Amino acid sequence: MNETQLGDATNSAENNTKTKQTGKKQLANGFDFSKGTQGLDADSATLIERRKRVLGTLGPLFYNQPIHVVRGQGAHLFDAQGNDYLDCYNNVACVGHVNAHVREAVADQLTRQDTHSRYLQDEVLDYAERLLGYFPQTLDHVSFTNSGSESNDLALRMARAYTGNRGVVVTSNAYHGITDLVASISPSFGTGIPLASFLATVEVADVLKNPGPDAEEILLGRFEAAFRQLHDAGYGVSAVLLDQIFSSDGVLPGAPGWVGRVAQAAHEAGGLLIADEVQSGFARTGDAFWGFQRHNADADIVTMGKPMGNGIPTGAVVYKTPIGDRFAECTRYFNTFGGNPVSMRAASAVLDEIEQRELLRHAETIGDRIAGELESLLGDTPGFGGIRHAGLFIGLDITSRDNRGLPDPAATQRIVDELRTRKVLISASGADASTLKLRPPLVFSDADADRLLDAMQQVKSVGLLR
Ligand code: PMP
Repeated sequence: MNETQLGDATNSAENNTKTKQTGKKQLANGFDFSKGTQGLDADSATLIERRKRVLGTLGPLFYNQPIHVVRGQGAHLFDAQGNDYLDCYNNVACVGHVNAHVREAVADQLTRQDTHSRYLQDEVLDYAERLLGYFPQTLDHVSFTNSGSESNDLALRMARAYTGNRGVVVTSNAYHGITDLVASISPSFGTGIPLASFLATVEVADVLKNPGPDAEEILLGRFEAAFRQLHDAGYGVSAVLLDQIFSSDGVLPGAPGWVGRVAQAAHEAGGLLIADEVQSGFARTGDAFWGFQRHNADADIVTMGKPMGNGIPTGAVVYKTPIGDRFAECTRYFNTFGGNPVSMRAASAVLDEIEQRELLRHAETIGDRIAGELESLLGDTPGFGGIRHAGLFIGLDITSRDNRGLPDPAATQRIVDELRTRKVLISASGADASTLKLRPPLVFSDADADRLLDAMQQVKSVGLLR
């Protein structure tokens, strides 16, 4: 049987019959191993050769001129020569690289105990109670994992068990992780890995980049078409799984609210909304602690990872009671490292920092400042295709300089490289890698913002944005 993905519901009649033929999609801003190490300094060349020998080329490496990171502090990374790079890309170290409070919590726990959750322990309960306090009352249970991928994998299994359906809807360039199931519903890998037969995708970038007054209706219509497609194919709808800031689709915060309408439609179609908060969660979007709250969406399951432990691996799935109860009737879920006391202490220290340093408010204030000043700086510059942001998550489109305004991935990469030369780290995203992506640690200071804006001004003055 041909296990071809159902197709993009945005244009379903055409796509339903189409098997995508292209292969692996390259990561934006990835080092090209096939070009070798000529022209790089000796230290980088040696490390790349060592890396290739043992790690191969499967795992991507950032930049044409990779950076040998040896130390971090706040929003800064330092290389082996002591150069100070401004990290405008790291949401894992959300409360800053080498955060002293997180380090002390972890060190303290390592002097006590670090075993798994099949014993009674305070740490996992203390954190679970605290984390659930950040959710509406209906989302009242949590299971712990080690990564965003594991969280999404578990969420999808729960949704299937609860709804009895198999079908899944995601956006057309979604990324949700690396397990077999999750990779098969992550179109941003390209078609080197076949997409699942029970998947329907929806294009959102075209609408959210240039939203008209009927944007919400158009998006809703597309999701409803996807739900119908899955019903007609006999899969039904188990879940619509949405990154709440649509990072891999090009950083698309959109006007708050439209995801809420999609959640309602998913419920009417018999499915659940899984809110993927790996990117948007933990105060990132400034106006709400979670992206789904910003969209006023009735999420049934919420998944998280990356920033949760500030670098100590940990993830979580938060869900409504009946969903967990149904899954528990079918199976058990034990995850050896999930909820371990060291990770729980790190995660709790992250919440301390977010609360005590008022990082939710800070993300909003400084995000607004940076996005506003970038817009003034670049406003009518040919090649500047527009800026979007929510809190401290900013997407900036780079387009061709003619009046067609087409996405320009080569120019985007040149800007990323030019900033890297100026020791400011950002990257690119979107289906055609033509959106500059800025997502610094939440502790990004005004002085850090000045440095970023100054570097952008220089990029403009050397003619890359002109
Ligand atoms: N979901 C989203 C939206 C992500 O961006 C990522 C990671 N980039 C994941 C899931 C997977 O998380 P992890 O790498 O921790 O498995």
